[in-house]
Amino acid sequence: MIRVEGLTKRYGATTVLDGIDAEIARGEVISIIGPSGTGKSTFLRCLNLLEQPSGGRIEIDGQDILAPGADVPRLRQRMGMVFQSFNLFPHLTVLENLTIGPIRLRGRTKAEAEARGLDLLKTVGLAEKADSFPDQLSGGQKQRVAIARCLSMEPEIILFDEPTSALDPTMVSEVLAVIRRLAKQGMTMAIVTHEMDFARDVSSRVFYMDQGTIYEAGTPEQIFGDPQRDRTRDFINKVRSVTAHLASADFDLYALFGQINGFCEKHLLPAKIAHRLELLTEEVLALHVARPGPVDLDLAIAYSEKSQEIEIRLDSPGEPGDPLADDPSDGLGLAIIRRYAEILPCHRVGDRNRVTLRVAKA
Ligand code: ADP
Repeated sequence: MIRVEGLTKRYGATTVLDGIDAEIARGEVISIIGPSGTGKSTFLRCLNLLEQPSGGRIEIDGQDILAPGADVPRLRQRMGMVFQSFNLFPHLTVLENLTIGPIRLRGRTKAEAEARGLDLLKTVGLAEKADSFPDQLSGGQKQRVAIARCLSMEPEIILFDEPTSALDPTMVSEVLAVIRRLAKQGMTMAIVTHEMDFARDVSSRVFYMDQGTIYEAGTPEQIFGDPQRDRTRDFINKVRSVTAHLASADFDLYALFGQINGFCEKHLLPAKIAHRLELLTEEVLALHVARPGPVDLDLAIAYSEKSQEIEIRLDSPGEPGDPLADDPSDGLGLAIIRRYAEILPCHRVGDRNRVTLRVAKA
């Protein structure tokens, strides 16, 4: 359905898309993942010409949409887009948000557009809200209206640009459920997302983007289970865990706590565990900082769904030996750590000592 060849996008001297080649077949659900700033959103916006590409080809059903004289408004109607920030018309009711496009741009009568609009609101679970205004809705409801509005234009493909990243965590799942349902119905979709578990079970293929290219593409099993290239592997390992490198005593502990909480939410771990992980990392850092020598600690928190265990891995430089062995806080720090975690035997990884804490869940 869509074929992209050598797509580039530059802003001044900055190359954001550096030669993208991709194909999307009808009925496919493509998740686009990767670090931020690598051009995922720009790629989507180039696909439906919200941004003018700097070079390359984009074909839809064999038709070159960058050719002079291409019917851009018509092409854009074939591709719906759902944004992070909903973009509903605030002065129109929910139903009016869904009927204005079909009436003005597709020549539907008001009655036709309303009947179809109500059907779509049912599909996204919001028929009751037809006469509400957007600011009377929660974020999750607004995003579901935005999806219904997109469907009202009868697109052949929907492009989702991080549809859940502006939402309160409690509302993410209602939006993902709607997208899942569309996937089941065979809608062609490309979704930029940070929700890895969702990407894994909804997609037919995953594009891993890095530095303006599709660095690796494959089935979810391949990309999440057995990535072939270095940067994909690094990324996949990172999103499944919390990692931090501490190089100074002024380290931003609250940013790390934010990551820990996000990690616990992602794995549906209770607040009690998040709190415990915060306490443990704080104690570990305090012990490390109190030692002589420069601050240099790599910390990784990972959760194994298989064994249901959470581990905190701590790597620090130095002669072989257990960095927790002599405790500058006279045992108090260690006592707190022991209360909530089992300390596994220290071992050498390269030129660093690794200590692993297995966190108690009870
Ligand atoms: P991602 O979606 O992967 O986070 P984006 O596509 O949003 O990445 O952005 C990729 C890069 O392009 C970023 O470094 C961003 O600063 C830059 N960029 C995006 N839009 C513009 C713009 N209008 N002008 C200049 N730079 C931009």
